[in-house]
Amino acid sequence: MTYSAFLIKYSEIGIKGKNRYVFEEALCARINENLSRVAEGFKVEREQGRIFLSCPEEFDYDRTVRELKKIFGVWAICPVKVIPDNDFEVIKKNVGDYVAEVYGDKEITFKVEARRADKRYPIESPQICSDMGAYLLERFPNLKVDVREPQVRIHVEIRNNAYVFSEIIPGPGGMPVGANGRAMLLLSGGIDSPVAGYMIAKRGVTVDAVYFHAPPYTSERALQKVIDLAQIISAYTGPIRLHVVNFTDIQLDIIEKCPRDELTIIMRRYMMRLAEHFARECGSLGLVTGESIGQVASQTMQSLNCTNAVCKMPVFRPLIAFDKDDIIAISEKIGSYETSVLPFEDCCTIFVAKHPVTKPEIAQIEKSETLLSEKIDEMVQTALDTREVIHIK
Ligand code: ATP
Ligand code: MG
Repeated sequence: MTYSAFLIKYSEIGIKGKNRYVFEEALCARINENLSRVAEGFKVEREQGRIFLSCPEEFDYDRTVRELKKIFGVWAICPVKVIPDNDFEVIKKNVGDYVAEVYGDKEITFKVEARRADKRYPIESPQICSDMGAYLLERFPNLKVDVREPQVRIHVEIRNNAYVFSEIIPGPGGMPVGANGRAMLLLSGGIDSPVAGYMIAKRGVTVDAVYFHAPPYTSERALQKVIDLAQIISAYTGPIRLHVVNFTDIQLDIIEKCPRDELTIIMRRYMMRLAEHFARECGSLGLVTGESIGQVASQTMQSLNCTNAVCKMPVFRPLIAFDKDDIIAISEKIGSYETSVLPFEDCCTIFVAKHPVTKPEIAQIEKSETLLSEKIDEMVQTALDTREVIHIK
């Protein structure tokens, strides 16, 4: 069967009233954006709680479905046959042709489900179902009706024209990116933070990212790995502005002046301060990290508390209660795992202490920070001023 259109269903929970408009607008924008990579000439229309997508004459079906499956907010993708008429006899014949083409002489049980967009249509839905069912049974001896658990549900929708579909390809769910504000993701080269970015985007949040780079201790290849990860998740999140911050001087000062076992916590606190600055500048309403309780010393409840203490914005941690195995499973699913495990150094791991504190106290950490050089504020300012932005599309 060659299709030239799709019905796209979205989950309607929580999108009533004014929200619905924002949600639908964002969803249409994301569909347009993703499909512009496939071909020109797709047409996206909103239609009573779903989206109707008509395809150009030439397009790659598999690629189109692949792109649609990456769009948050899409609950299901239904390739439809369009019947350019709403006369019931014409519809019956066309639905029959559709069934012949899709199911051939396979033995299947089926049920017809009908929907009239216009309640003035002369035949009511239950009648459409039974008439259509009778017609199909007569035309195809290989079909049997099962109204309870049919193998195939043949959906017939009547508008100015009519649609028939029976295949329902699941989408990723969630909410369309752009429907729920903007946040700044602290993106390192590890497994966790790309997954955290993916998950926050799944709730409709637009993602910007910041990476703390410590040349020459971290290499260009480590930076490239982060760019590649941003590229991989941008397939789901949409374009990302990646802020690359030179963190070397701040880091060296922390290493030189502060107790070794507190290094990671103090570094993390500086990262949060800088990230918050960029977040505010970009109109972000929160920070996002890949932290999960207890995963490492810097992610115990006490450590998270110390890191959090420097932030005025909310910090969202989508993975907070996830086991590493579950995080890995998501990273494999979204295609970031292989890149994440490439063995390039990260600025947090190269100077890591053998026995980092696991129960730091805020007062003690604040005291240690007073040991930093007088120039630390200048270093922070330089890091802010020399940040580079890479546009990931
Ligand atoms: P990940 O797998 O995301 O690297 P991790 O388990 O290695 O996480 P940490 O290194 O403790 O954990 O980092 C915790 C979080 O801090 C990361 O998930 C990320 O959000 C942020 N982070 C750490 N290092 C950097 C960095 N160099 N640049 C930006 N963010 C970072
Ligand atoms: Mg890391």
